Amino acid sequence: MANKGLLFVISGPSGAGKGTLCQHLLNANLGLRYSISATTRSPRPGELDGKDYFFLSKEEFMEMVNNDGFLEWAEIYGNYYGTPRKFVEEVLAQGEDLVLEIDIQGAKQVREKFPEGIFIFILPPSMEELRNRLVKRGSEPDEVVNCRLAWAKEELSYANEYDYIIVNDLLEDAVCKIKAIVLAERCKVRSPLK
Ligand code: ADP
Ligand code: 5GP
Repeated sequence: MANKGLLFVISGPSGAGKGTLCQHLLNANLGLRYSISATTRSPRPGELDGKDYFFLSKEEFMEMVNNDGFLEWAEIYGNYYGTPRKFVEEVLAQGEDLVLEIDIQGAKQVREKFPEGIFIFILPPSMEELRNRLVKRGSEPDEVVNCRLAWAKEELSYANEYDYIIVNDLLEDAVCKIKAIVLAERCKVRSPLK
């Protein structure tokens, strides 16, 4: 197990800023890798297959499920999302640190397989601000925004099961905190005797 990479798992309600924070983290020259998820939802304007997600049909997704191709997968807001298993295993085996941005159901499955993972929950400063961010992002129609906000309340109740909580109020503070977590975890003593 020597020199196996660290697995950082980031969750939080839709609109909390996970994608924005991940982007800053990945651009920070910390040598982090990112796992591109597969999904059955339609691409948003500007999203690219193989960059933002692997966009699959339900049939293609289920075929991958049946072939044990996912480390974890979940149904979220009526679509399927999953983490391709092979990439995660290869990156960690190479000793590289990897970021997964997945929901609470997926994080639970990952924790069972990788209890040594580092689980980070992103909170919005308030429900009102969460709504503002989702509306301002403009990527979903009103009914989808409402569905995401309703589910956010359930997701928030899981925050205390994570190792770290970051309130994403001022973006640059939140970016500092997530970078600090990565750096501290890299310095942590992981002795087999502990
Ligand atoms: P998520 O990936 O959690 O769904 P996004 O990263 O897409 O969330 O962020 C949702 C919206 O909020 C985006 O329009 C983003 O630009 C904006 N946003 C993210 N972080 C902040 C912040 N700290 N302050 C204000 N707006 C933010
Ligand atoms: P969005 O549709 O806004 O891109 O993502 C919706 C939700 O799906 C977010 O909570 C995001 O973290 C989650 N998600 C994205 N990829 C995966 C994945 O591979 N597995 C799981 N379980 N959730 C994912």
